[in-house]
Amino acid sequence: MNLTDIRTIKDVMSIYNIHFRKEFGQNFLTNISVVEDIADSCSDTPDATVLEIGPGIGVLTQELAFRYRKVIAVEIDNGLIPVLRYTLQDCPEGVVNIVHADVMKVDLAELLAPAFAAGKVSVCANLPYYITTPILMALLESNLPFEYITIMIQSEVADRLCAKAGSKEYGAITAVLKYYGEAQKLFKVSAGNFIPAPKVDSTVVRIKLHREKPCVPKDEETLFKTIRAAFEQRRKTLPNALSAGFPDIPKDQLTAILEECGHRPDIRGERLDITDFVALADRIYEIRKA
Ligand code: SAM
Repeated sequence: MNLTDIRTIKDVMSIYNIHFRKEFGQNFLTNISVVEDIADSCSDTPDATVLEIGPGIGVLTQELAFRYRKVIAVEIDNGLIPVLRYTLQDCPEGVVNIVHADVMKVDLAELLAPAFAAGKVSVCANLPYYITTPILMALLESNLPFEYITIMIQSEVADRLCAKAGSKEYGAITAVLKYYGEAQKLFKVSAGNFIPAPKVDSTVVRIKLHREKPCVPKDEETLFKTIRAAFEQRRKTLPNALSAGFPDIPKDQLTAILEECGHRPDIRGERLDITDFVALADRIYEIRKA
């Protein structure tokens, strides 16, 4: 079934009496080469399992099903579950597992345990814009050993995820993401490739998760708190911003820590990369523990 064909999409939706649901960020892909390119980039091996978040009517799911050993497709909209059973009926038998759930509420470790036992597991999603960051953070913070996370997101968010330290796009999410893996922009997808067309263009980003984290902090919570504090008040210098996040440490002590770590006291958070943040967070942790 050609699920990128607008006539087919409309027919399927009319048979099942469903409508695009804005509250679930439903913008379905209508360009087969975009769908194929996303599916191709999900894993290095056909033996992988792919967790697809938000299959919609199954356009990406069916391409994944012909490329990989297993596809677990988690869809929040119960109206789409019978549609998916219909549109995916010609996929290789036993490959697609349709799960009706909110991905933010599902126990991913439990759902994916057999998949991790069987081999590599990647994530693929054309994500709803309104919930991109929470879903991405939940995937990263799950600490599950995904191979890749391939996501289509708003281009502006993609710029932030892939920004270099020192640029204006660089923010807390960039630094946190660097802790978990390496993000790479694959290609842009203009709004005209969806029905209904969203207001913004999208970019496909692929994150390769670190097998071993290159820098490990003494305490993760302090690391994330340090990063958050550094960017919460972006226009302040770092000792001022950190002092708002760690009011229990005197500001001159925070300035001294920065100097110990090799930074000028008037530096701003966006100049620090993840290694700098880990070093800084470790000193903050030691002081608070003492
Ligand atoms: N994959 C399809 C495509 O590329 O055409 C649909 C993508 S559409 C942008 C986003 C999909 O995610 C919708 O099917 C929507 O119902 C689903 N969705 C939204 N929030 C979700 C959540 N919290 N958990 C699971 N699925 C969700």
